Amino acid sequence: NVRVRFCPSPTGNPHVGLVRTALFNWAFARHHGGTMVFRIEDTDAARDSEESYRQLLDSLRWLGLDWDEGPEVGGPHAPYRQSQRMDVYRDVAQKLLDGGYAYPCYCTAEELDARRELARREGRPSGYDGQCRTVTPEQKAVYDAEGREPIIRFRMPDEPITFTDLVRGELTFTPDNVPDYGIVRATGAPLYTLVNPVDDALMEITHVLRGEDLLSSTPRQIALYKALIELGIAKEIPAFGHLPYVMGEGNKKLSKRDPQSSLNLYRERGFLPEGLLNYLSLLGWSFSADQDVFSVAELVEKFDVEDVNANPARFDLKKAEAINADHIRRLDEKAFVEACEPWLKAPYADWAPEDFDRAAWEAIAPYAQTRLTVLSDITANVDFLFLKEPAEDEASWAKAMKGDPAALLTTARARLEAADWSSPDSLKDAVLKAGEEHGLKLGKAQAPVRVAVTGRTVGLPLFESLQILGRDRTLARIEAALS
Ligand code: GLU
Repeated sequence: NVRVRFCPSPTGNPHVGLVRTALFNWAFARHHGGTMVFRIEDTDAARDSEESYRQLLDSLRWLGLDWDEGPEVGGPHAPYRQSQRMDVYRDVAQKLLDGGYAYPCYCTAEELDARRELARREGRPSGYDGQCRTVTPEQKAVYDAEGREPIIRFRMPDEPITFTDLVRGELTFTPDNVPDYGIVRATGAPLYTLVNPVDDALMEITHVLRGEDLLSSTPRQIALYKALIELGIAKEIPAFGHLPYVMGEGNKKLSKRDPQSSLNLYRERGFLPEGLLNYLSLLGWSFSADQDVFSVAELVEKFDVEDVNANPARFDLKKAEAINADHIRRLDEKAFVEACEPWLKAPYADWAPEDFDRAAWEAIAPYAQTRLTVLSDITANVDFLFLKEPAEDEASWAKAMKGDPAALLTTARARLEAADWSSPDSLKDAVLKAGEEHGLKLGKAQAPVRVAVTGRTVGLPLFESLQILGRDRTLARIEAALS
């Protein structure tokens, strides 16, 4: 039975790398009919925030990445917020001390620095040297008298640790590279190094899929797991798979602070959850050689961690947008109409909600659906229907009104007035004929009409747009442009 976990720390805003990790865990769990555990690693009171916690839940819900155990859902291993599990960690830390798997370390930061420096100069490994592995009762008495407060340090085995990474294959870490490490601060606060594997053990996690940045903690966790197994706390060491780095601009690691990595940005721009998940799944994985647009159901059906590629993945915004555009095309009409609506609720100061005309919106929506890249583009495409006056854009005017468009607009207005408004073809014919009279091709003739009526040089099919706007408003706008 597959049990995976997604266990973010609630700091800052959710970012692309985090979502990719959540997605791969989720898809893996769903593919294997397993269990998705959602755990909040909020043991760092200084950095964690309730707002970030809320956002994490909200983001996963928006994306449709559901969890079987975790906050607001509960489960047999509750609570799933580490800040509520401190007793558990205190208890395990004590057992590790009692069993000799860990020891109090009294070294001060200055002493550690000095010895590290010396080791470096002498060409020895510069990690913790194990000094406090053996502390005599006399030494301890001295330390206590000095008022030193020990941290708890885990004793790493003296032989290499080898494991088979699900993505990278067999990996070996030698003891020099993995010195004894702290698991509880002098204040008694347990560290990630302890709480993460302890909860993985208690929550019976079978597969740990996480970012490559955490690879160096894996040998430590495996060693700790072995101790937990000997203490009867853990059953089995989970399998580990490390997901490749995501690279951004200039082939640098996409950082959390990079604006391109903010999940909220994609949400605000109107990426569809399906579109975004589709794209993010391609960061280190591929669906097939000749298909990169697929549904979440298809992803689940196909996804397996063995197919994840160890090479760094490149984040490509253009591709993300293209994939999202495909998902917009795939929506049925009603779903598209609904998906756009958040962007049509009074997006500008001079757009009153009561100006929103549902019938006009539903009539024009199908033309927009074939053109949008992100849903937020809908506003500029249809605002001419709902604004009292078209958006005023000097640059568009200048561009479309080169030469003397007044004569053309006058003719076009007269012909449109006489046209049959039950068909866009008749409106097109009116503008075409007006153009002919002035020696202009249709494209050139329709440009000033478009700007006069919609305020923009580009937009949805013009004659359908005019028809939906209606005869009176169209003629009035051309007149206004002429005056
Ligand atoms: N809380 C850790 C983080 O946010 C989890 C890392 C892990 O998956 O082990 O990076």
